[in-house]
Amino acid sequence: MKKVLTIAGSDCSGGAGIQADLKTFSAHGVYGMSVITAITAQNTQGVFDVRDLDEAIIKAQIDAIFTDIQVDAVKIGMVSQPSTIHIIASQIGKYHPVNIVLDPVMISKSGYSLLKPEAKKSLIEELIPRASVITPNVPEAEEIIRTVTSKPIAIKTVEDMEKAAQELYKLGAKNVLLKGGHMSGEAVDVLYDGKDITRFYSERIDTKNTHGTGCTLSSAIASNLALGYSIKEAVNRAKRYITIAIEHALDIGKGVGPTHHFY
Ligand code: PLP
Repeated sequence: MKKVLTIAGSDCSGGAGIQADLKTFSAHGVYGMSVITAITAQNTQGVFDVRDLDEAIIKAQIDAIFTDIQVDAVKIGMVSQPSTIHIIASQIGKYHPVNIVLDPVMISKSGYSLLKPEAKKSLIEELIPRASVITPNVPEAEEIIRTVTSKPIAIKTVEDMEKAAQELYKLGAKNVLLKGGHMSGEAVDVLYDGKDITRFYSERIDTKNTHGTGCTLSSAIASNLALGYSIKEAVNRAKRYITIAIEHALDIGKGVGPTHHFY
């Protein structure tokens, strides 16, 4: 069985973070493992509190896994602060896992900041260059490009997305998947692999229940890479998975309900 690790934050309500990641791994028939970076108190209505775990326990979790189990893919999600990023980057340098999917998580849909402002530079310099693929949404892509260039940027069209994906590629990740879910119209994502640009289209599903979509998509890509699919096919399959997961999203709680995981 293929083995996939998520390094991410916990969402006690089960919609996003490591809980979404582990459900996605199970749905793909891969064995899921989790290194927890932070514990959040949240539900479908918002994030109420966060405790970041210290670097010693993050390091120890990563050591415990890699000294014992072969890892076929890693997904990295919420990384909060510079010390968390340093230790993850250093552990990646030590164990050299294949297939690293980095979801540059910054702000929750409910508006809570999951990455401290001073951590942006570390994320860009220490983690992005180690990633097989990064999966920013449009606001995250704008923020990363703004941080690097110090210039204003607004991504409004698919052509803008393609230009931004090429700009982001320069930061060192092997592939860039820029997600268009925040734009209007058809849900289009753009993949740039340093040579070709591929557009992935899907219909936009009319639902308020989209909690954990970013976590789910990046974990689905990691699962498919672990299963041996090429990056294009992994993204294609993950896009189909997230579309169905949103279509069948659960109206749980009083706010933004979670995606539904099944195959
Ligand atoms: N909580 C955690 C721990 C996350 O990692 C993320 C996103 O990656 C979120 C919350 C945000 O989820 P959403 O913006 O889909 O509500």
